[in-house]
Amino acid sequence: MSTQQKRLVILGAAESGVGAALLGKQQGWDVFVSDGGRIKEQFSTVLAEAGIEFEEGQHTIEKLLNANCIVKSPGISEKVAIVKQIRAANIEVISEIEFGYRYKGDSKIIAITGSNGKSTTTKLTWHLLNKAGYDVAMVGNIGISFAKQIAIKPCAWYVMEISSFQLDDIKTFRPDVSVLLNITPDHLDRYDYKFENYIASKFRITHNQTPDDVFVVNIDDTVIKDYLSTHSIHSKIIYITMNEQNTENEGGHISNERMYLNYDGEKSNMSIHDLTLIGKHNQYNSMAAGISANIAGVRQSKLREYFTGFVGLDHRLEYVATIRGVTFINDSKATNVNSVWYALESMKKPTILILGGQDKGNDYNEIMELVKEKVKAIICIGKDNSPIHAAFDSVMENIIDTTSATEAVLAAYSLADNGDIVLLSPACASFDRFNNFEDRGIQFKEAVRNL
Ligand code: ADP
Repeated sequence: MSTQQKRLVILGAAESGVGAALLGKQQGWDVFVSDGGRIKEQFSTVLAEAGIEFEEGQHTIEKLLNANCIVKSPGISEKVAIVKQIRAANIEVISEIEFGYRYKGDSKIIAITGSNGKSTTTKLTWHLLNKAGYDVAMVGNIGISFAKQIAIKPCAWYVMEISSFQLDDIKTFRPDVSVLLNITPDHLDRYDYKFENYIASKFRITHNQTPDDVFVVNIDDTVIKDYLSTHSIHSKIIYITMNEQNTENEGGHISNERMYLNYDGEKSNMSIHDLTLIGKHNQYNSMAAGISANIAGVRQSKLREYFTGFVGLDHRLEYVATIRGVTFINDSKATNVNSVWYALESMKKPTILILGGQDKGNDYNEIMELVKEKVKAIICIGKDNSPIHAAFDSVMENIIDTTSATEAVLAAYSLADNGDIVLLSPACASFDRFNNFEDRGIQFKEAVRNL
């Protein structure tokens, strides 16, 4: 190690940490990676191959405190002892997106955050730019990390999915276009159980923006609207809305089943039925993606064609099959009640709802009206289904407990009539019975295909 070489320490060796390590090494830093748990083989192999020193199962404090800069994984809370020690030593701590940002050169960024819809909107925005022939990569929580992308294949444009944890440790990160989709209470354990802290964290996406940058916000979201009415924002703000009746305003707008886009003198409208994604939530995601792509220079006249060719992500209102007139839909990614609200809102036929899992303190009242209106039976799939029974026993005759995806699918199918929908939209985390939401969705799809 030369005497001038600066030391970069990475805390946490998963996708973002390893990405930062690769970029750091490439940029001439002396890199050390430390993970308090076990490092997955896919990541330790990459580190070893790149000749990057690492440790796992421990943090050797003297190997950390001599860092010039520390990149902390978004998964590590401020409350853990090692982070407190680092903070006390006054070492610069940043997130991986901040580190990547410092090496992105002239390339441009569309950064997308929100409590729900990030992945869908990120993929859709990427798709629109990609179809338009841009040199663009999809990075962040979806796919590969921003830092890794810069290290292995820099692009002119990055469409980035960002969580609030990544935003907590930015310093100069300044997207050309930032998008805030919605804010509902989530991850409050990391924010001292203060919703306002989580809100402030989400708004950090626009913190370093200037009037030359654009901030796309869903102004129908009351949390966002309230924050904007009490805080000043430096960027150019562009609204997406379904409430505002004036289609002449700049931004994205849906009324009478048409989506209007209006930016910088360019205007267009298209039928919402040309959007391949179903549901009101996806109309917000589509407006956000459409206007962001347009701000990035994609011609509105091309957007309709690009939208129609979009294939959504697995496990988000994913059509599985129709078996003897019964349609099965996999929405395993719906891990909170708000997501289930949007799923039910978009169901046009009588629905049998598969619900339950690891409950994070759900308030099922939020979906009570929709359940009464559209749901003919509830199939519980969690280990402890008492919160679901407590909420719905008095309004629903058929609530059945099951212990696996197969049992749940069989129970739902036995109750379904021709023309009904069976919807897996659990409102809960999956970890009580499955490895993750993908595993839950895959087991559900397999069970349907075995019918
Ligand atoms: P994220 O990456 O933020 O978790 P996804 O795009 O993966 O979001 O969608 C997760 C779930 O959230 C979907 O299954 C859907 O039910 C719900 N959802 C998607 N977009 C929105 C939105 N704009 N508003 C509310 N809920 C949404």
